[in-house]
Amino acid sequence: MRYQLAAPYLTNTEAKYLSKALSENWISSKGKNIIRFERETARYIGLKYGIAASNGTAALHLALLALGIGKGDEVIVPGLTFAATINSIIYTGAVPVIADIEKDSWCISPSAMAGAVTSRTRAVIAVHLYGQPCPMNEIMRTAAKNGIYVIEDCAESIGAEYAGRKIGSFGNVGCFSFYGNKIVTTGEGGMCITGRKDIAEKMAVLRNQGMNSSRRYWHDLVGYNYRMTNLQASVGLAQLEKIDVMLAKRVEIEDFYLDNLKDINCLKPQRGNLKNRKKVTWLVSYQFEPRKLSRDQVAYKLLKEGVETRNFFYPLSEMPVYRKYVRRECPVSQEISRKGINFPTNLNLRKADYRKITGAIKKVCAMN
Ligand SMILES: *Cc1c(COP(=O)(O)O)cnc(C)c1O
Repeated sequence: MRYQLAAPYLTNTEAKYLSKALSENWISSKGKNIIRFERETARYIGLKYGIAASNGTAALHLALLALGIGKGDEVIVPGLTFAATINSIIYTGAVPVIADIEKDSWCISPSAMAGAVTSRTRAVIAVHLYGQPCPMNEIMRTAAKNGIYVIEDCAESIGAEYAGRKIGSFGNVGCFSFYGNKIVTTGEGGMCITGRKDIAEKMAVLRNQGMNSSRRYWHDLVGYNYRMTNLQASVGLAQLEKIDVMLAKRVEIEDFYLDNLKDINCLKPQRGNLKNRKKVTWLVSYQFEPRKLSRDQVAYKLLKEGVETRNFFYPLSEMPVYRKYVRRECPVSQEISRKGINFPTNLNLRKADYRKITGAIKKVCAMN
């Protein structure tokens, strides 16, 4: 038996919507389900416009381009995130500036963000990491004070809330990913959400090779092919219909871990709901304190028991390819990364599986 860390949670609805799209011959990037999926996702987040994209990285790239960010600009990015966040900035020719994270939320620290602002700073990408919302009040205030844009990277946290509002609705654009291990998946896919009509239109043009929206095959600018297909959108619509059910199942899984691992003192869980914030469960996340065993030894022993785990992302500042974007060291990003481990958060597993998984974790941690 192998307990997979994450997997899509598919039911008959995905198959039904997909086969309808297939039988009607709408398999490319035209078709009603794309517009429906955009509308439904925007409505879920609480804003007016949704621009579907081929993946979450493309969504981030579109957001940056639509805000006019490019060569000569700087964009602030947290020290702990998936590479897609910083890569999207580099694609535009702008310079990413890495800022450290908060110890409690693992999201960008507003004071580190303020400290990274220069006269060239045009935007910040606030990443809601591992299901936890960023401190949006402070980020929005710092951004307003310095006259910079806010892009929210919501790839790991769809459904999370700050002060009763869904994340993705605070900044100029909220970007989502629908990759296979994300909370809502279309296999590959992404979405930009915004309340601004002009930004939405700009992103739609950029997504479609820069083609003028009222004059076919006339191109005003060099765009991209970042379109989503109607097949992906069909899956997305079915997923979005059951998002509340899926989020509740994820909380149940996390609560089971919290309950069963509460006496394991070398494992510290991710913080629960911080002030003003309502997190979602993406991957159940813990900090592991090594004693006799290293984190990698624990991971190896668990794998032998059939339990897949995942280490946290490496801090951006440690990877040579991003080293030149470090102006101040990021000790918190480094520490959280070094100790971080994700446990299976897979909606296809049952309670008995989670009993075995937590049993194996307890057994291995007893050797530490
Ligand atoms: C998954 C992810 C993305 C986007 O990834 P895609 O694979 O391109 O959809 C961006 N940022 C973060 C933090 C992510 O986890």
